[in-house]
Amino acid sequence: MSRRGEILAEMGISPIWVLKKTKSSGDWMPLKAEVAGCTKCALHKGRTQTVFGVGDERAEWMLVGEAPGAEEDRLGEPFVGQAGRLLDNMLAAIGLSRESNVYICNVLKCRPPGNRNPEPDEVAKCAPHLQRQIALVQPKLIVAMGRFAAQTLLNTDASIASLRGRVFQYAGVPLVVTYHPAYLLRNLPDKAKAWEDLLFARRTLAAQVPRPHSPQ
Ligand code: URA
Repeated sequence: MSRRGEILAEMGISPIWVLKKTKSSGDWMPLKAEVAGCTKCALHKGRTQTVFGVGDERAEWMLVGEAPGAEEDRLGEPFVGQAGRLLDNMLAAIGLSRESNVYICNVLKCRPPGNRNPEPDEVAKCAPHLQRQIALVQPKLIVAMGRFAAQTLLNTDASIASLRGRVFQYAGVPLVVTYHPAYLLRNLPDKAKAWEDLLFARRTLAAQVPRPHSPQ
């Protein structure tokens, strides 16, 4: 026990419970407010609410999808529909969950109508939000799920198939690419490949030289 702890214990006022300050709790607020009120593209007109992100804001794992669907728009949380359940199950199989140790968000924070693909100008307007989210989380690994996340973060138009199984860097953070969970629901045989990708991601993270966390 520290000297301070001993003194407090002697005085009968120990243990003291102090709310743990997250690394960047203060820094998140402006971004969250900006996203909530964003009108930079036309998608704001059709949204019920923005869908910012969910999970541990200091997570080592950060997963990035495409855009909210109908359920996400209704509930304000990413990946809460059928694709989300598949994602949660896959994550659980390697001891990860949005409740404890991953952070999940999308490239777009507003739902495209009819679940159409994001338009280039929508991605261009929304990507800076994602960049700031990544800078705040400071993950040790980014998993880009699907074409839009991979192509946006890697600034490429290469296919998922050609990007899988390699480690890229995004602003100094290792990034791996996998299929989007909604694609997996339509292409069940590729689930095995997505599982390989998750294991590859886990090995990529484990191979990293530990770096000290910034002070809290
Ligand atoms: N698909 C996505 O890309 N994101 C969600 O949040 C839900 C479905």
